[in-house]
Amino acid sequence: MEGIKEMVFVVKVDDVCSFTYEFLNKAVMEKTLLGPGSVGKTFDDIHSKFMAKFLNEKYSEVIQTNQSTSYEDSFYSADNKLYYSKTLLTPLFDDLGKCTHIVSLVKDITDEKIAKLESQGIQERLEESSARYRSLFDSNADAIFTVDFNGRITGGNSAGYKLSGYYMNELAGKNFIDFVVPEDKVQAKENFHFSILGNIKDSRLQILNKTGDVVCCIVKFIPINVKSKITGFYMIAKDMTELDKIASLYKAGEENFRIIAENVHDVIILMNHHKQYLYVSPSSETIFGYRPDQIIGQEPYFNVHPEDIPNISKAFEQAAKNGSTYLVQIRLLHNERGWIWSEISGTPVFGENKEFNHMVMVARDISIQKEYESQLKHFAYYDSLTELPNRRYFQEYATERLELNENSQRSLAVLILDIDDFKEINDQWGHETGDAVIQEFGFRLNNCMHGENMAARLGGDEFVILLADTETEEQVAEVADMIYQVMKEPVEVEGLSLNISISMGIALAPSEKVSISVMMKRADMAMYKAKQQEKNTFQVSPT
Ligand code: GH3
Ligand code: MG
Repeated sequence: MEGIKEMVFVVKVDDVCSFTYEFLNKAVMEKTLLGPGSVGKTFDDIHSKFMAKFLNEKYSEVIQTNQSTSYEDSFYSADNKLYYSKTLLTPLFDDLGKCTHIVSLVKDITDEKIAKLESQGIQERLEESSARYRSLFDSNADAIFTVDFNGRITGGNSAGYKLSGYYMNELAGKNFIDFVVPEDKVQAKENFHFSILGNIKDSRLQILNKTGDVVCCIVKFIPINVKSKITGFYMIAKDMTELDKIASLYKAGEENFRIIAENVHDVIILMNHHKQYLYVSPSSETIFGYRPDQIIGQEPYFNVHPEDIPNISKAFEQAAKNGSTYLVQIRLLHNERGWIWSEISGTPVFGENKEFNHMVMVARDISIQKEYESQLKHFAYYDSLTELPNRRYFQEYATERLELNENSQRSLAVLILDIDDFKEINDQWGHETGDAVIQEFGFRLNNCMHGENMAARLGGDEFVILLADTETEEQVAEVADMIYQVMKEPVEVEGLSLNISISMGIALAPSEKVSISVMMKRADMAMYKAKQQEKNTFQVSPT
């Protein structure tokens, strides 16, 4: 017993069915905590409660069944190493057939146990990776076919069925090349051979599905490597139909933008939040004399009139903040013509995160429109025959002056003048001569004006004067005298020398508050009085 390397325990069966160690061999002494002192002790004496209970049960089982039994167990050795063991319990009987001893032979199975556990782990890991591979293969959105060295299809996933319309048993054994459109076959073969040499490359191939439709795909072949040996290939085909559709829409959008931007007469500008020019359409050269490349990269607003920068800047900021659009009229620099009136409409563009991205601006030259506007303004405020201000202009201007004078304690006077017997000139020399007389009259009258005074034509042969800063009747009479002096000179028209005389009515601003219309009415009445009493004289209206 001392010679065998397995542990041997001889245990005496007591009457009371407890168990006492009677012999332990050398191996037991070496491997366990038991020693010579353990002989004669029961399980309960030596072991922990849990261990003692376990042993008692196992040994009792042998007595009850009268048969040997075995079990596997693990224990920590004296040097704290985990051992796996297999124990065989064999009963020994006396002559009467009573079990007096049980021999326990404990075999160390640590090595084989570890080997078994390891192989179990490998198995589990293998199963796991295989399951992982299967789900990667089966639920992959891209079609995956397995092909052999000749390109024959050996299998495929469900996306492969979806793409091709063929069940795998219909595809098995067929060459993938058969499903590639004729014009792409050469490229497909080339790509396949590349991957045999270890070069994986994407290529665009058109694949024919079961219904004969062409499916555009990006295809790649990946070698299946088993123990450093290539056993076949995965042919991965990504269906590009949807992506191509989106890309073509995007491209069409971009193309549309390009066509619009390059062909509209107006200038299209894209500007970021730093007010940097991102894009300027080619029309900028015809409209502003600058090529797009001469504008892009310049300082923000380099071409905006300094007085108009606050205006455009405010409109830009507000639109970028509120998402509103704007329309402003500003002066932009033309390379040769200088500042030209332009109209800019701006629309902000926001990104996916609702953050301001850039401003799309459309700029157009409105200098002609502006000119026309100012011409209209001129027509509205000036008399076309004499180029003097008309009644409307006079009334607005005089009203303004009157309000100003109220605060500054200054006074003003209104004079109304009408040519005497003008009808006769018309009748005798014709309307055109009459026009020339009116023109000359207006011209002379205007020459008498200075400072803030104004002469205007009310209509026909009737004119009005505002003396903006006049206190006394005498001062007004001085001006009236001067006008009479000036008008004494005959008017030379087409070889004729015509003498004209005028009647005049004067209204001085009264101390109470009156309107310009009232003053004009008073002056008119005074003028009427002069005409009645003595032409070629003036009358002053009582205030
Ligand atoms: P009075 O001394 O009372 O002012 O007599 P008058 O002949 O000057 O008559 P009145 O001022 O009432 O009429 C002015 C005339 O001027 C009437 C019209 O035929 C003529 N007239 C009005 N506008 C024009 C114009 O633009 N050109 C010319 N040539 N004649 C005009
Ligand atoms: Mg007249």
